Amino acid sequence: MVRPALRSRSFRRIKKKLPGGAFITHYLKRKPSVAKCSACGSKLHGVKSERPIVMKKLSRSRKTPSRPYGGRLCSKCTREKMKEKVR
Ligand SMILES: [Zn+2]
Repeated sequence: MVRPALRSRSFRRIKKKLPGGAFITHYLKRKPSVAKCSACGSKLHGVKSERPIVMKKLSRSRKTPSRPYGGRLCSKCTREKMKEKVR
């Protein structure tokens, strides 16, 4: 059994297969919640949800879509917003 601190459910458990076929469990901190659209509240695609230590290593383009309102609004809401602006 693992040490008491790792038995908490605040850790997510990842099963890893070893080259010999045996399984071991990795204990990792949980990921932050998924980014949501600020207008409709739906989940945003292309927005990475990782712990800060992982996010720091990623390039800007891997964290958020490179378009206006990317990472703030979903594609549907962005389309509507653009139409509103033009009108
Ligand atoms: Zn939306």
